[in-house]
Amino acid sequence: MTVAWRVVALAEIANFASLRRHLGRLCADRLSTALVDRATGCIAGLRATAVARSLVEFELGSTDLAAIETAVEMLRVAFEAPFEFEGDRHKLEITFAAAAAPVGSTEDVRLVEEAEGALEQARAEFRTVLRDLSAGTPAFDRLSLIRDLPDAIARGEMFLQYQPKVHVRRQEIASAEALVRWQHPRRGLILPGDFITLAEESRQIDALTLWTLDRVIADQRILRAEGRDLTIFINISGQLLSDAEFVASACRKVREGGAKIGFEITETAVIRDPQSAIANLRKFDEVGITIAIDDYGAGLSSLAYLKELPARELKIDKMFILQLTSSNRDPLIVRSTIDLAHALEMEVTAEGVETQAALALLTVMGCDMVQGYLLSRPISIEAFRAFLRDDKLKLGGDGRDSMFKRPASFWRTA
Ligand code: C2E
Ligand code: MG
Ligand code: MG
Repeated sequence: MTVAWRVVALAEIANFASLRRHLGRLCADRLSTALVDRATGCIAGLRATAVARSLVEFELGSTDLAAIETAVEMLRVAFEAPFEFEGDRHKLEITFAAAAAPVGSTEDVRLVEEAEGALEQARAEFRTVLRDLSAGTPAFDRLSLIRDLPDAIARGEMFLQYQPKVHVRRQEIASAEALVRWQHPRRGLILPGDFITLAEESRQIDALTLWTLDRVIADQRILRAEGRDLTIFINISGQLLSDAEFVASACRKVREGGAKIGFEITETAVIRDPQSAIANLRKFDEVGITIAIDDYGAGLSSLAYLKELPARELKIDKMFILQLTSSNRDPLIVRSTIDLAHALEMEVTAEGVETQAALALLTVMGCDMVQGYLLSRPISIEAFRAFLRDDKLKLGGDGRDSMFKRPASFWRTA
């Protein structure tokens, strides 16, 4: 039996603001209509509506998911050709996203919400995101993902994004964190929150982490060759801290790779099996791996172990940072955590810094490093290299304090 599918796709004109400056408001308002016309001319039966000046929504029925993927690709290609306005040709940069589900399985409103969520992802990841909502029950989801995982690495579906950590006093990029993503051929982009636990449960986390380490060592070398010898941190699951084979392989790779690598671990992971975790962390430390404690304050915590760990950095969990300037308690917790870490001779990173106000408060509190959407979202290695080049220019050019004076809009799109 063939299943009918319904898809809601969104196309957003990413360079709308600059086109509006160039073309004038009245002409720019006609851009979305031009998109609608081109799309309906390209695919029969397509319903297209301009839902905002820079956003067009498409609705399409189809008999299978592959046909939907083809339709989205046809639209993407159709929009690549320049558009003519008042005798001039203009290129529209389109961010594309879609959500699809079998007819009757999903309410319309959910389909639209999922398409909007996919658009947000597409903006952040600079790629087309297609969400398939047919996966059914969570149990089915988990099983199918676990099944797909082993080949995902081999097929090159995993990739890394880098998020810088910025040193507050020195006002320069101090290091970066590598975050793994899975570009699933049918389900689109999957973030680690949805597959790391599965990888742990199905004993595939060691292979995934060693793959990550190889990639990061290679990327770190590229950065070093460009004169930016930054430490790159990777996240290490608690399970791996007591896995002797993993520890030996990781130490060997780092020693042979000769790259500056850091490991982010959580305290909860240490508390599970403190003896072997602490012994293995010392091994990591001996081969020159910088240890950072991740998500501090979010899980189990023990001051007795904290002072035993060969950690040089403490990362305060974003749950304390996101509400920093609107909460009464969070600033007190953050302040005392910074003092505690300094007493233990660790540097402090605040993760989840999204606003200038939070950055200002953290600066006053003596926080050493900040990481968050205000400074940069996680970005591809190419974008990160461009970010570093640009940073170098700005820092060298108009004074070392220019970085923190950039408008928030710059940081978000960098
Ligand atoms: P984490 O290590 O604490 O990473 C920080 C998470 O916060 C990342 O989510 C990042 O994208 C997000 N984030 C960064 N800045 C902001 C901000 O300003 N506001 C908000 N709201 N969020 C921000 P992501 O990439 O989805 O990663 C989630 C978690 O997945 C990570 O938390 C880490 O525990 C785990 N993870 C990621 N990559 C790996 C990996 O290679 N191996 C293992 N074992 N775990 C990984
Ligand atoms: Mg981390
Ligand atoms: Mg964290």
